[in-house]
Amino acid sequence: MDELDEKSRERRELLGGFGAGLVAVAFANSQAQAQTDARTVKIEPLQDPRGKYPKPPFQQQSQPWPGLASKMIPRPDHGEKSYRGTNRLAGRKALITGGDSGMGRAAAIAYAREGADVAINYLPAEEEDAKEVLELIRSAGRTAVAIPGDLRTENFCQVLVQTAIKQLGGLDILVNNAARQQTRASILDVTTADFDATMKTNVYAPFWTIKAALPYLKPGSVIIGTSSVQATDPSPDLYDYAQTKAATTNYIRSLAKQLAPKGIRVNGVAPGPIWTPLQVSGGATQEKLKKFGADSPMGRPGQPAELASIFVQLAANDASYATGQIYGSAGGGGMP
Ligand code: NAD
Ligand code: MG
Repeated sequence: MDELDEKSRERRELLGGFGAGLVAVAFANSQAQAQTDARTVKIEPLQDPRGKYPKPPFQQQSQPWPGLASKMIPRPDHGEKSYRGTNRLAGRKALITGGDSGMGRAAAIAYAREGADVAINYLPAEEEDAKEVLELIRSAGRTAVAIPGDLRTENFCQVLVQTAIKQLGGLDILVNNAARQQTRASILDVTTADFDATMKTNVYAPFWTIKAALPYLKPGSVIIGTSSVQATDPSPDLYDYAQTKAATTNYIRSLAKQLAPKGIRVNGVAPGPIWTPLQVSGGATQEKLKKFGADSPMGRPGQPAELASIFVQLAANDASYATGQIYGSAGGGGMP
């Protein structure tokens, strides 16, 4: 071996040893870090899900549609005080329809605390609820955009998406969550105007918003739809609503297949009975409302806050293999 070869061999050995040393130091550091974290982490007590939130019987109450969360008794929990983020959606830009109350509000709060800028759509009559959500997004240090308006026309859905993209500076999470639900004992009580309003809100609006948003969605973006256990186990008094939820579950599965080759994931959330304004503004009969959630194995309705982490999970980068899925949360009843 000549002198040059010998030098380069020594050099390789030196570097190899140095590299291995670095790895060992890094490993020791990460072990120490993990131990420090384990020692400093605040222990959370186990929570019994049965007694975590109010149970029926509920007080009789009724509000004109679309209802306000702030006027419900008891007030729903959207995670205002409890949701803690860990930067899972840092830098994302999200548009949520029906973001003023219920599941949409829970998602908006969680998204902002996970580091996303959030635009919410709602009806002008819901300004009071929306203001609270916008304030919560801002106090998480994120940009909050308010885009009130009625989703029942294609023109507004296009304006909504364009405004969100302009004000957020892009879009990578689209949550189609708004819906109309009005109880009718008989199909004979469902007017053509009723049927049309339910279809326009629950089926046409997601179609229109997705069409408007798709040209802007990059690989890694997500579309999330709120479906329901009604998609597979429809109630007799929700003839029009239940079939729109079957349509929602179906579009999620079809679109997931269509958009996976483009790197866009499409998933859904299927709640069971959740304590939201939709139920007290015509969505349920007074009789059903009094014992709302009693039929579920958990013995109570869910709160919007209990679904927030699902909306986060479906939007996060680490759920990269989940598409065409419907994640349920129904207290043990129904099927997603
Ligand atoms: P919610 O009343 O808080 O939210 C529904 C929102 O839809 C309203 O806040 C309103 O802003 C919006 N909306 C309705 N019509 C609109 C229109 N024409 N234009 C614009 N916005 C309109 O109630 P929620 O229960 O949180 O509903 C959110 C989603 O959850 C809906 O898709 C609903 O079908 C679904 N869901 C609810 C339950 C439940 O028990 N609450 C169960 C299963 C599924
Ligand atoms: Mg509302």
